[in-house]
Amino acid sequence: MAEPVAHNESVKSRPTPSRPQQGAITPQGTLAVYEPGSGKLLGEVRVSTAAQVRETVQSAKAAQTEWARKSFAERREVLLRFKDLLLQRADEFCDHISRENGKTRNESLFMEVLPVADATAWYANNARKLLKDEKISLHMFPHKKSYLRFYPRGAIGIISPWNYPFSIPTGDAVAALMAGNAVVVKPSEFTPIIMEKTRALLEEAGLPRGLFGVVQGKGDVGAELIKAGVNMIVFTGSVATGKKVNVGAAEQMIPCVLELGGKDPAIVLPDADIDTAAKKIAWGAFANSGQTCASVERVYVHESIAKPFTEKVAELARNLRQGEPNRHDVDVGAMTTQAQVDIIKRHLDEARARGAKIVAGGEIKVTPEGARFVQPTVLTDTTQDMAIIRDETFGPMLPVMTYRTLEEAVKLANDSSYGLSAYVFTKSRAKADEIANQLIAGTVMHNDTLYTHAAPETPWGGVKSSGLGRVHGKHGMRDFCEVRHVNLERVNFPAFWYYPYSRKAWSTGLRVYRTLLGHGLSSKLKALFGKH
Ligand code: NDP
Repeated sequence: MAEPVAHNESVKSRPTPSRPQQGAITPQGTLAVYEPGSGKLLGEVRVSTAAQVRETVQSAKAAQTEWARKSFAERREVLLRFKDLLLQRADEFCDHISRENGKTRNESLFMEVLPVADATAWYANNARKLLKDEKISLHMFPHKKSYLRFYPRGAIGIISPWNYPFSIPTGDAVAALMAGNAVVVKPSEFTPIIMEKTRALLEEAGLPRGLFGVVQGKGDVGAELIKAGVNMIVFTGSVATGKKVNVGAAEQMIPCVLELGGKDPAIVLPDADIDTAAKKIAWGAFANSGQTCASVERVYVHESIAKPFTEKVAELARNLRQGEPNRHDVDVGAMTTQAQVDIIKRHLDEARARGAKIVAGGEIKVTPEGARFVQPTVLTDTTQDMAIIRDETFGPMLPVMTYRTLEEAVKLANDSSYGLSAYVFTKSRAKADEIANQLIAGTVMHNDTLYTHAAPETPWGGVKSSGLGRVHGKHGMRDFCEVRHVNLERVNFPAFWYYPYSRKAWSTGLRVYRTLLGHGLSSKLKALFGKH
Protein backbone atom coordinates (compact mmCIF):
# COMPACT_ATOMS: atom_id res chain seq x y z
CA MET A 1 0.00 0.00 0.00
CA ALA A 2 1.36 3.40 -0.98
CA GLU A 3 2.41 5.77 1.77
CA PRO A 4 0.46 9.02 2.08
CA VAL A 5 1.84 11.77 -0.13
CA ALA A 6 3.62 14.21 2.20
CA HIS A 7 2.73 17.87 1.71
CA ASN A 8 6.29 18.96 1.32
CA GLU A 9 7.04 16.16 -1.13
CA SER A 10 7.66 17.71 -4.50
CA VAL A 11 5.94 15.61 -7.13
CA LYS A 12 5.71 17.47 -10.41
CA SER A 13 2.39 17.76 -12.21
CA ARG A 14 2.35 15.56 -15.26
CA PRO A 15 -0.35 14.25 -17.59
CA THR A 16 -2.08 10.97 -16.82
CA PRO A 17 -0.04 8.11 -18.36
CA SER A 18 -1.17 6.87 -21.75
CA ARG A 19 -3.27 3.75 -21.15
CA PRO A 20 -7.04 3.22 -21.41
CA GLN A 21 -8.41 6.34 -19.75
CA GLN A 22 -10.71 6.12 -16.78
CA GLY A 23 -14.26 6.28 -18.14
CA ALA A 24 -13.27 5.30 -21.70
CA ILE A 25 -15.02 2.40 -23.45
CA THR A 26 -12.61 -0.48 -24.19
CA PRO A 27 -12.58 -2.33 -27.55
CA GLN A 28 -14.41 -5.14 -25.70
CA GLY A 29 -17.37 -2.82 -24.98
CA THR A 30 -16.66 -2.34 -21.29
CA LEU A 31 -15.94 0.61 -19.04
CA ALA A 32 -12.60 0.06 -17.32
CA VAL A 33 -12.43 1.54 -13.84
CA TYR A 34 -9.08 2.67 -12.47
CA GLU A 35 -8.57 3.54 -8.81
CA PRO A 36 -8.03 7.32 -8.50
CA GLY A 37 -5.81 6.75 -5.46
CA SER A 38 -3.39 4.31 -7.07
CA GLY A 39 -4.08 4.13 -10.81
CA LYS A 40 -4.65 0.35 -10.55
CA LEU A 41 -7.37 -1.36 -12.58
CA LEU A 42 -10.31 -2.01 -10.22
CA GLY A 43 -12.67 -3.76 -12.61
CA GLU A 44 -14.88 -3.43 -15.65
CA VAL A 45 -18.58 -3.27 -16.40
CA ARG A 46 -20.30 -4.01 -19.68
CA VAL A 47 -21.83 -1.04 -21.49
CA SER A 48 -25.59 -1.36 -22.08
CA THR A 49 -27.03 -1.13 -25.58
CA ALA A 50 -30.13 1.00 -26.26
CA ALA A 51 -32.20 -2.22 -26.50
CA GLN A 52 -30.88 -3.38 -23.12
CA VAL A 53 -31.79 -0.03 -21.56
CA ARG A 54 -35.38 -0.42 -22.81
CA GLU A 55 -35.52 -4.05 -21.62
CA THR A 56 -34.23 -3.07 -18.17
CA VAL A 57 -36.96 -0.44 -17.86
CA GLN A 58 -39.62 -2.88 -19.06
CA SER A 59 -38.52 -5.54 -16.55
CA ALA A 60 -38.52 -2.92 -13.80
CA LYS A 61 -42.05 -1.87 -14.71
CA ALA A 62 -43.23 -5.47 -14.83
CA ALA A 63 -41.83 -6.10 -11.35
CA GLN A 64 -43.30 -2.82 -10.08
CA THR A 65 -46.93 -3.88 -10.60
CA GLU A 66 -46.59 -6.58 -7.95
CA TRP A 67 -44.36 -4.42 -5.68
CA ALA A 68 -46.92 -1.57 -5.65
CA ARG A 69 -49.58 -4.01 -4.39
CA LYS A 70 -47.49 -4.87 -1.34
CA SER A 71 -48.24 -3.12 1.94
CA PHE A 72 -45.86 -0.56 3.43
CA ALA A 73 -45.01 -3.17 6.09
CA GLU A 74 -43.95 -5.71 3.45
CA ARG A 75 -41.76 -3.18 1.61
CA ARG A 76 -40.36 -1.96 4.92
CA GLU A 77 -39.27 -5.49 5.82
CA VAL A 78 -37.19 -5.82 2.63
CA LEU A 79 -35.57 -2.40 2.98
CA LEU A 80 -34.75 -2.85 6.65
CA ARG A 81 -33.04 -6.13 5.72
CA PHE A 82 -31.05 -4.19 3.12
CA LYS A 83 -30.05 -1.70 5.84
CA ASP A 84 -28.95 -4.54 8.15
CA LEU A 85 -26.89 -6.23 5.40
CA LEU A 86 -25.29 -2.89 4.51
CA LEU A 87 -24.27 -2.25 8.11
CA GLN A 88 -22.88 -5.80 8.36
CA ARG A 89 -20.85 -5.27 5.17
CA ALA A 90 -19.91 -1.64 5.86
CA ASP A 91 -16.23 -2.48 5.72
CA GLU A 92 -16.48 -4.16 2.32
CA PHE A 93 -18.60 -1.32 0.89
CA CYS A 94 -16.29 1.41 2.27
CA ASP A 95 -13.27 -0.39 0.90
CA HIS A 96 -14.84 -0.56 -2.53
CA ILE A 97 -16.12 3.05 -2.57
CA SER A 98 -12.70 4.40 -1.53
CA ARG A 99 -11.05 2.42 -4.29
CA GLU A 100 -13.54 3.39 -6.98
CA ASN A 101 -14.04 7.06 -6.11
CA GLY A 102 -10.87 8.04 -4.23
CA LYS A 103 -12.48 9.38 -1.06
CA THR A 104 -10.96 8.38 2.27
CA ARG A 105 -12.14 5.34 4.16
CA ASN A 106 -13.76 7.46 6.88
CA GLU A 107 -15.54 9.57 4.24
CA SER A 108 -16.85 6.37 2.63
CA LEU A 109 -18.34 5.48 6.00
CA PHE A 110 -19.64 8.87 7.17
CA MET A 111 -20.63 10.34 3.80
CA GLU A 112 -21.79 7.27 1.89
CA VAL A 113 -22.60 4.09 3.83
CA LEU A 114 -23.99 5.41 7.14
CA PRO A 115 -26.24 8.08 5.53
CA VAL A 116 -27.71 5.42 3.24
CA ALA A 117 -28.31 3.00 6.13
CA ASP A 118 -29.98 5.78 8.12
CA ALA A 119 -32.04 7.09 5.18
CA THR A 120 -33.19 3.55 4.38
CA ALA A 121 -34.40 3.04 7.95
CA TRP A 122 -36.06 6.47 7.98
CA TYR A 123 -37.95 6.02 4.71
CA ALA A 124 -38.85 2.45 5.64
CA ASN A 125 -40.26 3.56 9.00
CA ASN A 126 -41.93 6.77 7.85
CA ALA A 127 -43.20 6.16 4.30
CA ARG A 128 -46.64 5.12 5.47
CA LYS A 129 -47.07 8.33 7.50
CA LEU A 130 -45.60 10.59 4.78
CA LEU A 131 -47.79 9.10 2.06
CA LYS A 132 -51.06 8.70 3.93
CA ASP A 133 -54.13 10.37 2.46
CA GLU A 134 -54.24 14.09 3.14
CA LYS A 135 -57.64 15.70 3.73
CA ILE A 136 -58.44 19.05 2.20
CA SER A 137 -61.20 21.19 3.71
CA LEU A 138 -63.34 22.88 1.07
CA HIS A 139 -64.36 26.26 2.48
CA MET A 140 -66.96 26.96 -0.20
CA PHE A 141 -68.23 23.39 -0.68
CA PRO A 142 -68.44 21.95 2.85
CA HIS A 143 -70.93 19.31 1.74
CA LYS A 144 -68.03 17.58 -0.05
CA LYS A 145 -64.70 16.28 1.12
CA SER A 146 -61.44 16.04 -0.78
CA TYR A 147 -58.39 13.84 -0.34
CA LEU A 148 -54.94 13.80 -1.83
CA ARG A 149 -53.72 10.30 -2.52
CA PHE A 150 -50.16 9.38 -3.36
CA TYR A 151 -49.73 6.64 -5.96
CA PRO A 152 -46.34 5.33 -7.10
CA ARG A 153 -45.37 6.75 -10.48
CA GLY A 154 -44.02 3.48 -11.93
CA ALA A 155 -40.32 3.36 -12.83
CA ILE A 156 -38.01 6.14 -11.61
CA GLY A 157 -34.87 6.75 -13.69
CA ILE A 158 -31.91 7.93 -11.62
CA ILE A 159 -28.90 9.42 -13.42
CA SER A 160 -26.09 9.99 -10.95
CA PRO A 161 -22.61 11.54 -10.73
CA TRP A 162 -19.24 10.17 -9.62
CA ASN A 163 -18.64 12.24 -6.48
CA TYR A 164 -21.02 10.29 -4.20
CA PRO A 165 -21.47 7.18 -6.35
CA PHE A 166 -23.28 5.23 -3.60
CA SER A 167 -25.17 7.64 -1.36
CA ILE A 168 -26.72 9.87 -4.04
CA PRO A 169 -28.40 7.19 -6.19
CA THR A 170 -29.11 4.78 -3.32
CA GLY A 171 -30.58 7.46 -1.03
CA ASP A 172 -33.05 8.41 -3.76
CA ALA A 173 -33.67 4.79 -4.75
CA VAL A 174 -34.73 3.63 -1.28
CA ALA A 175 -37.27 6.49 -1.03
CA ALA A 176 -38.63 5.68 -4.50
CA LEU A 177 -38.85 1.95 -3.68
CA MET A 178 -40.64 2.58 -0.37
CA ALA A 179 -43.18 4.67 -2.28
CA GLY A 180 -43.91 1.58 -4.40
CA ASN A 181 -41.84 2.37 -7.48
CA ALA A 182 -39.26 0.50 -9.51
CA VAL A 183 -35.86 2.16 -10.06
CA VAL A 184 -33.38 2.11 -12.93
CA VAL A 185 -30.01 3.77 -12.24
CA LYS A 186 -27.46 5.02 -14.76
CA PRO A 187 -24.32 5.61 -12.70
CA SER A 188 -21.46 7.82 -13.83
CA GLU A 189 -19.10 6.17 -16.30
CA PHE A 190 -16.28 6.91 -13.80
CA THR A 191 -17.80 5.02 -10.86
CA PRO A 192 -20.11 2.36 -12.28
CA ILE A 193 -19.25 -0.75 -10.19
CA ILE A 194 -20.75 0.25 -6.84
CA MET A 195 -24.30 0.20 -8.30
CA GLU A 196 -23.78 -3.43 -9.39
CA LYS A 197 -22.86 -4.28 -5.78
CA THR A 198 -25.89 -2.31 -4.54
CA ARG A 199 -28.26 -4.20 -6.84
CA ALA A 200 -26.86 -7.53 -5.60
CA LEU A 201 -27.30 -6.48 -1.95
CA LEU A 202 -30.88 -5.28 -2.51
CA GLU A 203 -31.75 -8.61 -4.15
CA GLU A 204 -30.08 -10.51 -1.32
CA ALA A 205 -32.31 -8.52 1.04
CA GLY A 206 -35.35 -9.83 -0.84
CA LEU A 207 -36.07 -7.13 -3.40
CA PRO A 208 -37.78 -8.79 -6.40
CA ARG A 209 -35.37 -9.29 -9.31
CA GLY A 210 -35.61 -6.56 -11.93
CA LEU A 211 -37.24 -4.01 -9.62
CA PHE A 212 -33.91 -2.23 -9.21
CA GLY A 213 -32.17 -2.11 -12.58
CA VAL A 214 -28.74 -0.74 -13.50
CA VAL A 215 -27.72 0.39 -16.98
CA GLN A 216 -24.12 1.24 -17.73
CA GLY A 217 -22.39 3.60 -20.11
CA LYS A 218 -21.65 7.19 -20.88
CA GLY A 219 -23.97 10.15 -21.39
CA ASP A 220 -25.69 8.57 -24.42
CA VAL A 221 -26.93 5.74 -22.16
CA GLY A 222 -28.33 8.36 -19.76
CA ALA A 223 -30.13 9.98 -22.70
CA GLU A 224 -31.50 6.53 -23.72
CA LEU A 225 -32.80 5.94 -20.21
CA ILE A 226 -34.87 9.14 -20.38
CA LYS A 227 -36.52 7.84 -23.59
CA ALA A 228 -36.93 4.25 -22.43
CA GLY A 229 -40.33 4.54 -20.75
CA VAL A 230 -39.42 5.68 -17.22
CA ASN A 231 -42.08 7.78 -15.47
CA MET A 232 -39.75 10.29 -13.84
CA ILE A 233 -36.08 11.28 -13.92
CA VAL A 234 -33.96 12.26 -10.96
CA PHE A 235 -30.75 13.74 -12.26
CA THR A 236 -27.74 14.80 -10.21
CA GLY A 237 -24.85 16.32 -12.10
CA SER A 238 -23.63 19.41 -13.87
CA VAL A 239 -25.75 22.36 -14.99
CA ALA A 240 -24.90 21.79 -18.66
CA THR A 241 -26.06 18.15 -18.61
CA GLY A 242 -29.02 19.06 -16.38
CA LYS A 243 -30.36 21.35 -19.09
CA LYS A 244 -30.16 18.53 -21.65
CA VAL A 245 -31.93 16.18 -19.23
CA ASN A 246 -34.67 18.77 -18.67
CA VAL A 247 -35.26 18.98 -22.45
CA GLY A 248 -35.22 15.17 -22.76
CA ALA A 249 -37.77 14.83 -19.95
CA ALA A 250 -39.98 17.51 -21.52
CA GLU A 251 -39.99 15.56 -24.80
CA GLN A 252 -41.21 12.48 -22.93
CA MET A 253 -43.66 14.57 -20.87
CA ILE A 254 -42.24 13.17 -17.65
CA PRO A 255 -41.31 15.13 -14.53
CA CYS A 256 -37.68 15.57 -13.60
CA VAL A 257 -35.82 16.69 -10.53
CA LEU A 258 -32.47 18.35 -11.19
CA GLU A 259 -29.81 18.45 -8.48
CA LEU A 260 -27.03 20.51 -10.03
CA GLY A 261 -23.90 22.36 -9.04
CA GLY A 262 -23.10 24.94 -6.41
CA LYS A 263 -20.66 27.69 -5.43
CA ASP A 264 -21.61 27.78 -1.81
CA PRO A 265 -20.60 30.73 0.36
CA ALA A 266 -19.86 30.86 4.09
CA ILE A 267 -20.26 34.13 5.97
CA VAL A 268 -18.27 34.45 9.20
CA LEU A 269 -19.57 37.18 11.52
CA PRO A 270 -17.31 39.09 13.94
CA ASP A 271 -18.81 37.28 16.95
CA ALA A 272 -18.22 33.78 15.51
CA ASP A 273 -16.22 31.21 17.44
CA ILE A 274 -13.12 31.26 15.24
CA ASP A 275 -11.95 27.73 16.05
CA THR A 276 -15.35 26.20 15.32
CA ALA A 277 -15.84 28.23 12.16
CA ALA A 278 -12.36 27.36 10.84
CA LYS A 279 -12.79 23.65 11.64
CA LYS A 280 -16.21 23.30 10.07
CA ILE A 281 -15.39 25.43 7.05
CA ALA A 282 -12.17 23.47 6.44
CA TRP A 283 -14.18 20.25 6.51
CA GLY A 284 -16.86 21.78 4.29
CA ALA A 285 -14.20 22.79 1.76
CA PHE A 286 -11.84 19.81 1.81
CA ALA A 287 -14.02 16.75 2.57
CA ASN A 288 -14.19 14.40 -0.41
CA SER A 289 -11.33 16.51 -1.86
CA GLY A 290 -13.81 19.35 -2.33
CA GLN A 291 -15.83 17.28 -4.80
CA THR A 292 -19.17 17.97 -3.14
CA CYS A 293 -21.99 19.98 -4.71
CA ALA A 294 -22.43 21.87 -1.43
CA SER A 295 -18.71 22.35 -0.69
CA VAL A 296 -17.74 25.68 0.82
CA GLU A 297 -16.20 27.35 -2.23
CA ARG A 298 -16.10 30.97 -0.97
CA VAL A 299 -15.65 32.45 2.50
CA TYR A 300 -16.57 36.02 3.46
CA VAL A 301 -15.08 36.78 6.85
CA HIS A 302 -15.46 40.04 8.77
CA GLU A 303 -12.28 42.10 8.47
CA SER A 304 -11.90 42.31 12.26
CA ILE A 305 -11.28 38.55 12.54
CA ALA A 306 -9.90 37.83 9.07
CA LYS A 307 -6.29 37.40 10.24
CA PRO A 308 -6.85 34.84 13.04
CA PHE A 309 -9.50 33.02 10.99
CA THR A 310 -7.24 32.71 7.92
CA GLU A 311 -4.28 31.61 10.03
CA LYS A 312 -6.40 28.96 11.74
CA VAL A 313 -7.92 27.59 8.55
CA ALA A 314 -4.49 27.56 6.83
CA GLU A 315 -2.96 25.70 9.77
CA LEU A 316 -5.76 23.12 9.60
CA ALA A 317 -5.21 22.72 5.84
CA ARG A 318 -1.45 22.24 6.27
CA ASN A 319 -1.97 19.55 8.90
CA LEU A 320 -4.31 17.40 6.84
CA ARG A 321 -2.78 14.07 5.86
CA GLN A 322 -3.27 13.35 2.19
CA GLY A 323 -2.59 10.13 0.37
CA GLU A 324 -3.77 6.70 -0.68
CA PRO A 325 -7.44 6.92 0.28
CA ASN A 326 -8.27 3.50 1.61
CA ARG A 327 -6.76 4.04 5.07
CA HIS A 328 -7.92 5.39 8.38
CA ASP A 329 -4.89 7.66 8.84
CA VAL A 330 -5.54 9.74 5.72
CA ASP A 331 -7.74 12.87 5.86
CA VAL A 332 -7.85 13.88 2.20
CA GLY A 333 -7.99 11.37 -0.64
CA ALA A 334 -7.61 11.50 -4.39
CA MET A 335 -9.36 13.39 -7.17
CA THR A 336 -11.83 11.09 -8.93
CA THR A 337 -11.24 12.37 -12.47
CA GLN A 338 -8.40 14.00 -14.39
CA ALA A 339 -10.91 16.39 -16.02
CA GLN A 340 -11.69 17.84 -12.59
CA VAL A 341 -7.98 18.25 -11.82
CA ASP A 342 -7.66 20.24 -15.05
CA ILE A 343 -10.51 22.59 -14.02
CA ILE A 344 -8.94 23.18 -10.61
CA LYS A 345 -5.58 23.89 -12.19
CA ARG A 346 -7.17 26.41 -14.55
CA HIS A 347 -8.92 28.24 -11.67
CA LEU A 348 -5.79 28.20 -9.52
CA ASP A 349 -3.50 29.43 -12.30
CA GLU A 350 -5.85 32.29 -13.18
CA ALA A 351 -6.22 33.33 -9.53
CA ARG A 352 -2.44 33.30 -9.00
CA ALA A 353 -1.80 35.24 -12.21
CA ARG A 354 -4.28 37.90 -11.09
CA GLY A 355 -2.74 38.40 -7.67
CA ALA A 356 -4.26 35.81 -5.36
CA LYS A 357 -1.95 34.55 -2.60
CA ILE A 358 -1.68 30.89 -1.62
CA VAL A 359 -1.40 30.68 2.15
CA ALA A 360 -1.57 26.87 2.33
CA GLY A 361 -1.27 24.06 -0.19
CA GLY A 362 -1.40 24.88 -3.88
CA GLU A 363 0.23 21.76 -5.32
CA ILE A 364 -1.30 19.34 -7.79
CA LYS A 365 0.28 15.92 -7.88
CA VAL A 366 -0.18 13.15 -10.42
CA THR A 367 1.93 10.05 -9.83
CA PRO A 368 3.47 8.06 -12.71
CA GLU A 369 0.89 5.32 -12.01
CA GLY A 370 -1.97 7.79 -12.57
CA ALA A 371 -3.02 8.58 -8.99
CA ARG A 372 -4.03 12.25 -8.63
CA PHE A 373 -4.08 14.53 -5.64
CA VAL A 374 -4.79 18.21 -5.14
CA GLN A 375 -3.50 19.68 -1.88
CA PRO A 376 -6.02 21.37 0.41
CA THR A 377 -5.43 25.00 -0.51
CA VAL A 378 -6.29 28.29 1.20
CA LEU A 379 -6.15 31.50 -0.85
CA THR A 380 -6.46 35.19 -0.01
CA ASP A 381 -6.63 38.28 -2.22
CA THR A 382 -9.10 36.72 -4.63
CA THR A 383 -11.67 38.98 -6.24
CA GLN A 384 -15.32 38.44 -7.03
CA ASP A 385 -14.70 38.29 -10.80
CA MET A 386 -12.18 35.41 -10.78
CA ALA A 387 -13.23 31.97 -12.05
CA ILE A 388 -12.34 30.50 -8.63
CA ILE A 389 -15.10 32.69 -7.13
CA ARG A 390 -17.66 32.55 -9.94
CA ASP A 391 -17.49 29.01 -11.37
CA GLU A 392 -17.80 25.66 -9.61
CA THR A 393 -14.21 24.54 -8.85
CA PHE A 394 -15.14 21.19 -7.27
CA GLY A 395 -11.77 20.76 -5.60
CA PRO A 396 -10.13 21.40 -2.22
CA MET A 397 -9.77 25.16 -2.78
CA LEU A 398 -10.78 27.67 -0.10
CA PRO A 399 -10.66 31.34 -1.10
CA VAL A 400 -11.06 33.66 1.92
CA MET A 401 -12.29 37.21 1.32
CA THR A 402 -13.18 39.97 3.77
CA TYR A 403 -16.18 42.25 4.25
CA ARG A 404 -17.00 45.32 6.32
CA THR A 405 -20.80 45.36 6.66
CA LEU A 406 -23.27 42.52 6.82
CA GLU A 407 -25.19 43.98 3.87
CA GLU A 408 -22.00 43.74 1.81
CA ALA A 409 -21.44 40.10 2.90
CA VAL A 410 -24.98 39.08 1.98
CA LYS A 411 -24.70 40.87 -1.37
CA LEU A 412 -21.42 39.09 -2.18
CA ALA A 413 -22.78 35.71 -1.06
CA ASN A 414 -25.84 36.15 -3.30
CA ASP A 415 -23.72 37.32 -6.23
CA SER A 416 -23.70 33.93 -7.97
CA SER A 417 -25.59 32.07 -10.66
CA TYR A 418 -25.84 29.17 -8.17
CA GLY A 419 -27.93 28.78 -5.01
CA LEU A 420 -27.52 25.34 -3.45
CA SER A 421 -26.47 25.91 0.17
CA ALA A 422 -25.08 28.80 2.22
CA TYR A 423 -23.45 28.83 5.65
CA VAL A 424 -23.51 31.41 8.44
CA PHE A 425 -21.16 31.40 11.42
CA THR A 426 -22.23 33.47 14.45
CA LYS A 427 -22.91 32.83 18.13
CA SER A 428 -26.36 34.41 17.68
CA ARG A 429 -29.06 32.08 16.43
CA ALA A 430 -31.41 35.05 15.94
CA LYS A 431 -28.83 36.77 13.74
CA ALA A 432 -28.28 33.57 11.73
CA ASP A 433 -32.03 33.24 11.24
CA GLU A 434 -32.27 36.85 10.07
CA ILE A 435 -29.42 36.33 7.57
CA ALA A 436 -30.99 33.06 6.40
CA ASN A 437 -33.97 35.09 5.19
CA GLN A 438 -31.68 37.16 2.98
CA LEU A 439 -29.58 34.38 1.46
CA ILE A 440 -30.82 32.96 -1.85
CA ALA A 441 -30.14 29.25 -1.41
CA GLY A 442 -31.97 25.94 -1.10
CA THR A 443 -30.51 25.34 2.37
CA VAL A 444 -28.93 27.68 4.91
CA MET A 445 -26.98 26.14 7.80
CA HIS A 446 -25.94 27.88 11.01
CA ASN A 447 -22.50 27.03 12.41
CA ASP A 448 -22.23 23.96 10.20
CA THR A 449 -21.56 22.82 6.66
CA LEU A 450 -22.66 20.04 4.27
CA TYR A 451 -24.21 17.70 6.81
CA THR A 452 -27.96 18.07 6.15
CA HIS A 453 -27.64 15.97 3.01
CA ALA A 454 -27.36 13.14 5.53
CA ALA A 455 -30.50 14.21 7.45
CA PRO A 456 -33.24 12.40 5.50
CA GLU A 457 -36.04 14.48 7.03
CA THR A 458 -34.77 17.66 5.39
CA PRO A 459 -35.33 18.59 1.74
CA TRP A 460 -32.30 18.89 -0.54
CA GLY A 461 -32.05 20.97 -3.68
CA GLY A 462 -31.12 24.36 -5.03
CA VAL A 463 -32.44 27.55 -6.55
CA LYS A 464 -31.19 29.44 -9.63
CA SER A 465 -28.79 27.26 -11.68
CA SER A 466 -28.45 24.79 -8.78
CA GLY A 467 -31.54 22.96 -9.91
CA LEU A 468 -35.24 22.27 -9.88
CA GLY A 469 -37.29 20.38 -7.32
CA ARG A 470 -36.24 18.65 -4.12
CA VAL A 471 -35.15 15.22 -3.01
CA HIS A 472 -35.24 13.87 0.57
CA GLY A 473 -37.79 14.47 3.30
CA LYS A 474 -41.55 14.61 2.87
CA HIS A 475 -41.35 16.71 -0.30
CA GLY A 476 -38.85 14.39 -1.98
CA MET A 477 -40.80 11.28 -1.03
CA ARG A 478 -44.09 12.71 -2.30
CA ASP A 479 -42.42 13.70 -5.55
CA PHE A 480 -41.91 10.00 -6.26
CA CYS A 481 -45.70 9.74 -6.38
CA GLU A 482 -48.48 10.91 -8.63
CA VAL A 483 -50.75 13.08 -6.56
CA ARG A 484 -54.34 12.22 -7.30
CA HIS A 485 -57.30 14.10 -5.97
CA VAL A 486 -60.45 12.26 -4.84
CA ASN A 487 -63.58 14.28 -4.10
CA LEU A 488 -66.40 12.57 -2.15
CA GLU A 489 -69.86 13.68 -1.14
CA ARG A 490 -70.64 14.16 2.54
CA VAL A 491 -74.19 15.57 2.26
CA ASN A 492 -76.46 15.59 -0.77
CA PHE A 493 -76.87 19.34 -1.23
CA PRO A 494 -79.49 20.53 -3.74
CA ALA A 495 -77.20 22.63 -5.92
CA PHE A 496 -78.95 25.55 -7.61
CA TRP A 497 -76.27 26.38 -10.18
CA TYR A 498 -76.82 23.48 -12.56
CA TYR A 499 -79.30 23.28 -15.44
CA PRO A 500 -81.67 24.82 -16.20
CA TYR A 501 -79.91 28.20 -15.85
CA SER A 502 -82.10 31.07 -14.64
CA ARG A 503 -81.98 34.63 -13.55
CA LYS A 504 -82.95 33.46 -10.04
CA ALA A 505 -79.95 31.10 -9.81
CA TRP A 506 -77.70 33.92 -11.01
CA SER A 507 -78.87 36.36 -8.29
CA THR A 508 -78.87 33.66 -5.61
CA GLY A 509 -75.28 32.75 -6.48
CA LEU A 510 -74.13 36.35 -6.44
CA ARG A 511 -75.89 37.01 -3.12
CA VAL A 512 -74.38 33.91 -1.50
CA TYR A 513 -70.84 34.72 -2.64
CA ARG A 514 -71.19 38.42 -1.66
CA THR A 515 -72.34 37.35 1.79
CA LEU A 516 -69.72 34.65 2.30
CA LEU A 517 -66.74 36.45 0.82
CA GLY A 518 -67.78 39.80 2.22
CA HIS A 519 -68.46 38.76 5.82
CA GLY A 520 -66.32 35.66 6.32
CA LEU A 521 -69.36 33.47 6.85
CA SER A 522 -67.82 30.43 5.21
CA SER A 523 -66.61 29.24 8.61
CA LYS A 524 -70.18 29.46 9.94
CA LEU A 525 -71.36 27.41 7.01
CA LYS A 526 -68.68 24.86 7.76
CA ALA A 527 -69.74 24.75 11.38
CA LEU A 528 -73.29 24.01 10.19
CA PHE A 529 -72.07 20.88 8.39
CA GLY A 530 -69.75 19.85 11.18
CA LYS A 531 -65.99 19.38 11.20
CA HIS A 532 -64.28 17.16 8.65
P1 NDP B 1 -22.30 15.23 -15.38
O1 NDP B 1 -23.39 16.21 -15.64
O2 NDP B 1 -21.14 15.19 -16.28
O3 NDP B 1 -22.89 13.75 -15.36
C1 NDP B 1 -23.94 13.35 -14.50
C2 NDP B 1 -24.56 12.07 -15.05
O4 NDP B 1 -25.26 12.37 -16.25
C3 NDP B 1 -23.54 11.00 -15.41
O5 NDP B 1 -24.07 9.74 -15.10
C4 NDP B 1 -23.39 11.22 -16.88
O6 NDP B 1 -22.87 10.10 -17.54
C5 NDP B 1 -24.81 11.49 -17.30
N1 NDP B 1 -24.98 12.16 -18.58
C6 NDP B 1 -24.06 12.82 -19.33
N2 NDP B 1 -24.63 13.32 -20.46
C7 NDP B 1 -25.94 12.96 -20.44
C8 NDP B 1 -27.06 13.19 -21.30
N3 NDP B 1 -26.96 13.89 -22.42
N4 NDP B 1 -28.27 12.69 -20.93
C9 NDP B 1 -28.40 12.00 -19.78
N5 NDP B 1 -27.38 11.75 -18.92
C10 NDP B 1 -26.17 12.22 -19.23
O7 NDP B 1 -21.86 15.49 -13.87
P2 NDP B 1 -20.66 14.83 -13.08
O8 NDP B 1 -20.79 13.35 -13.07
O9 NDP B 1 -19.40 15.45 -13.56
O10 NDP B 1 -20.97 15.32 -11.57
C11 NDP B 1 -20.47 16.50 -11.04
C12 NDP B 1 -21.58 17.54 -10.95
O11 NDP B 1 -22.64 17.05 -10.17
C13 NDP B 1 -21.12 18.81 -10.28
O12 NDP B 1 -21.56 19.94 -11.00
C14 NDP B 1 -21.82 18.77 -8.93
O13 NDP B 1 -22.04 20.01 -8.34
C15 NDP B 1 -23.09 18.06 -9.27
N6 NDP B 1 -23.69 17.48 -8.06
C16 NDP B 1 -24.83 18.02 -7.55
C17 NDP B 1 -25.37 17.54 -6.37
C18 NDP B 1 -26.64 18.11 -5.80
O14 NDP B 1 -27.23 17.46 -4.95
N7 NDP B 1 -27.11 19.27 -6.21
C19 NDP B 1 -24.74 16.47 -5.63
C20 NDP B 1 -23.54 15.97 -6.26
C21 NDP B 1 -23.05 16.46 -7.45
P3 NDP B 1 -21.30 9.95 -17.73
O15 NDP B 1 -20.64 10.30 -16.43
O16 NDP B 1 -21.19 8.54 -18.08
O17 NDP B 1 -20.97 10.96 -18.82
